[in-house]
Amino acid sequence: MPIYEYKCESCSNIFEYLVFGSDKPDCPSCMSKKVSRLMSACSYVSKGSGGETTNPSASSSSCGGCAASSCAGCSH
Ligand SMILES: [Zn+2]
Repeated sequence: MPIYEYKCESCSNIFEYLVFGSDKPDCPSCMSKKVSRLMSACSYVSKGSGGETTNPSASSSSCGGCAASSCAGCSH
């Protein structure tokens, strides 16, 4: 679940919000709905918290016994 940074257009408050689907946050400071999403370098903090996402470089050596990208083709 991505966490986005938002900036309130009304009071310039910057806050983080965990987005569910197409949910849109209100400003926690002034309750304004005029917020804009900021592009943050640390938008994704879910790394390592269960369930690796599809990352070719990380999953390419998952099988310790052969060079296959998965263990489907060998007995490991
Ligand atoms: Zn505000």
